[in-house]
Amino acid sequence: MKFTELLEEFDIPRAPEGNEHQTVGWVQIDCPFCSKDSHHWRMGYNISGGYVNCWSCGTHSLASVLHEWTNLPYKRIKELIEQLDDVIEQPIMRENTKGILGIPSCVGHLRDVHIRYLSTRRFDYKEIQRLWQVKGIAIAGRLKWRLFIPILHQNRVVSWTTRAIGKTMYRYLSAEPHEELIPHKNILYGGDYVRHCVIITEGPLDVWAIGPGAVATFGSNYTQQQVLQLIKIPRRIVCYDNDREAQKQAQKLCDTLGAFEGETINVVLDAKDPGEAKHKELKKLRKFLT
Ligand SMILES: [Zn+2]
Repeated sequence: MKFTELLEEFDIPRAPEGNEHQTVGWVQIDCPFCSKDSHHWRMGYNISGGYVNCWSCGTHSLASVLHEWTNLPYKRIKELIEQLDDVIEQPIMRENTKGILGIPSCVGHLRDVHIRYLSTRRFDYKEIQRLWQVKGIAIAGRLKWRLFIPILHQNRVVSWTTRAIGKTMYRYLSAEPHEELIPHKNILYGGDYVRHCVIITEGPLDVWAIGPGAVATFGSNYTQQQVLQLIKIPRRIVCYDNDREAQKQAQKLCDTLGAFEGETINVVLDAKDPGEAKHKELKKLRKFLT
C-alpha cells in the first residue's frame, strides 16, 4: 500500500497537486498536532524515508500522527505502517566506494558514548540516525571517537564529515578531496530537505537542532557554489553563530543573497548557535519555515 492510498482510505486530506508546498519526494498533509484542518500543509511524509516531519513543530513518529488522524488503536496503526511499501532503502554507503567515495572502514553503529554525547546535546539519537543517517566511529586512528556524518546530495551520499564527541583540537574532520564525489564545500548540508524557505547555519549540529529546512555551509566561510544554490530558494534566513566574526560573515552573505530575487533576513540568536539554543528560541526560529 502506498502512503497516499492510506490517506485516501482514512479520508486524511493532503495538499493538492501543484500546491506550492508540494516538493518532490514528500507528501504534504496538515499537522494534527499544531495545525489540523488548517490546509497549511505543514507536515511532510518523506516517501523514501517513511517518516514525517512538521515544518512548524518538528518531527513526530508516523504512528502518533496516524493515531491523531484516525483514532485507531496503535496496534492497528502498526499493522498499517508495516504494509506501506513505498519506502525505498536509504542508499547503502559503502556500495559507492569503488575507489570513488572513500568511506573510512571504521564507521559503524552508534556506541553508548556517541549516544551519551548526543543526549547531553539534547538530541534524540534515534531521530539523528533516522533523519541524518549518522553513524559512530570508535577506536580508529585519526578519526577515533567521532560521529560519522554522511553528506547527501539528491539522496546520494557524496561526501562526509565527522564531529568529535570529546575534547580535541579539531571538532570537525571532513573527507579529503580524493574521498568525496562532490566537494562538501560545494553543497549545502541538509539541502535535500529544503522547500521554499531555508535557515542557513554553520554546522550539521545546528541543522539537527532546527530540523529539516535548515542547511549548513560547513563553517561561516561559505562558497560561491553554495550561494548559487541558496539564491534558488525564495526565502532565506541566515543564522550564523552570534560572535562578531561569524556575524561579519552573516552580513556579507545577506548582502550577496539580498542582491537576488527573494527575501533574505539575518537572525542573531541569544544562544551561541542553533545547536545550543533553548527550545523556545528554536521554536521561534522554525516559525520562519512555515
Ligand atoms: Zn505541527
